[in-house]
Amino acid sequence: MQRRTIGLIGGMSWESSAEYYRIINEEVHRRLGGAHSARSLMLSVDFDEIKHLQHAGDWDRLADAMKDAALRLERGGADFIVLCTNTMHRLADAIASSVSIPLLHIADPTAEKIRTAGIRRVGLLGTAFTMDDDFYKGRLQSLHDLDVIVPDAADRQVVHDVIYKELVLGRIDPLSRDAYRGIIARLIENGAEGIILGCTEIMLLVSGEDSAVPLFDTTTIHAVAAVDHALGA
Ligand code: GLU
Repeated sequence: MQRRTIGLIGGMSWESSAEYYRIINEEVHRRLGGAHSARSLMLSVDFDEIKHLQHAGDWDRLADAMKDAALRLERGGADFIVLCTNTMHRLADAIASSVSIPLLHIADPTAEKIRTAGIRRVGLLGTAFTMDDDFYKGRLQSLHDLDVIVPDAADRQVVHDVIYKELVLGRIDPLSRDAYRGIIARLIENGAEGIILGCTEIMLLVSGEDSAVPLFDTTTIHAVAAVDHALGA
């Protein structure tokens, strides 16, 4: 039985929102069988505008855009919000306080998976906003007691550029996969026992065979957690 309607804020980028939509529907079908699919709404934004505001550091206007999206989903009948991007969780508190329905924070089910795997020291890959700022690492550290490490500055630049210049545009380049492999290997040398794919497009480029330690794909983990919440008591 589907108790709750999922409200997805998507389009950041649509390449990964399509994965959320696929995974959520496949997971509901896997659990309920028949012709079951997920009851959901998605509000998909224009990522070009978002990307420019991010790089201009205009988080006030980004907060307005995200709050507007959340409100529209609430009015449309969503029972909870799933924000389909790690980076924009920088605004999680602002979004959550603008609606009366809950926001399912991407870092929480991710941390739970990592802890369940018995891992404490993890490497984090994501946009510069996610790797540099404290909103994501801080939550993993203070709320979930994880020890989070990030690549060095040059490697962070590569990770960020591949996301914004390739992955959000649907470009999958084997040379970029090789570069990510090297960056993952260096995180492991620095003690990472697992790697968080902390940007929802990275799963389009990198898979288990690219890493000697377990990967924690935030897209899949978040989408499955949304199904847990939608079907849960
Ligand atoms: N989808 C990405 C993330 O998970 C990056 C795009 C964005 O800036 O929202 O962080």
